[in-house]
Amino acid sequence: MTIRAVHHLNCATMCPLAGFLIGQDTGWRRGKMVAHCLLIETERDGLVLVDTGLGTDDVAGRTGLSRTFKRLFGPALDHQETALAQVEALGLSPAEVRHIVVTHLDLDHAGGIPDFPNAKVHLHAREHGAAMMRTSFKEKERYLRAHWQHGPKWELYTEDGETWRGLPAVTRLRGLDADIGLVPMHGHTRGHSAIIVRSGDRWLVHAGDAYFHRNSVEGSAPPPIGFAAFERAMQMDPAARRASLAALRQIRESYPDVDMFCAHSDAEYDAIRARA
Ligand SMILES: [Zn+2]
Repeated sequence: MTIRAVHHLNCATMCPLAGFLIGQDTGWRRGKMVAHCLLIETERDGLVLVDTGLGTDDVAGRTGLSRTFKRLFGPALDHQETALAQVEALGLSPAEVRHIVVTHLDLDHAGGIPDFPNAKVHLHAREHGAAMMRTSFKEKERYLRAHWQHGPKWELYTEDGETWRGLPAVTRLRGLDADIGLVPMHGHTRGHSAIIVRSGDRWLVHAGDAYFHRNSVEGSAPPPIGFAAFERAMQMDPAARRASLAALRQIRESYPDVDMFCAHSDAEYDAIRARA
């Protein structure tokens, strides 16, 4: 047992335009999205963050969050929601955050990275490449250089023949003894991954932005129109995104010991917090 505790944190409340577009009952009033992150206490390797939401520099207006992002998503920009503030509120030391594992480097997932400048940042090599190069307009908008101008200690991975539940995976991260790994789920971005965490006799699957609404993995009904449009607008590789979604659906159906959630669903976040 190398994982002592897993905390589910919301590191950026966002209030996107018109709740009905994302399946919420607020009508034309703004809805609610979270930035679901994990804070993992390990026995050997200090604290591990999975995704980081928005950080203190974002809240202070120092990273260049665009006016379009703020208008569309209405981020709360509340210091108390940053991972840094929440680590402190739990009575833990930010210096103990030695590892960060990210699903991808979109601004709402990478914002907290500079708040832990000494942590190793683990991610898929393709994602790192995409964020450093920012070759397309979409990538110039979604990746903010301010989130890595301090020069993080990147730990990059590619698939090396290992599998998890039949899917290509990276099941061991360098310097980390705990069962935390990457399962490539490309499509939303070029190197997007799901993060798997073994907690007791269950596996948590943080699906990041591979989907936005439960319907997408339950397959019973299409996702709300706003999410469907957003998924398409933001994807870098449509075929890869569909394949990732199919893989997640299959994992969910086949393995009862899996607790799966995406980054931005407040319903999933509330449900998992209630259970924990
Ligand atoms: Zn996101």
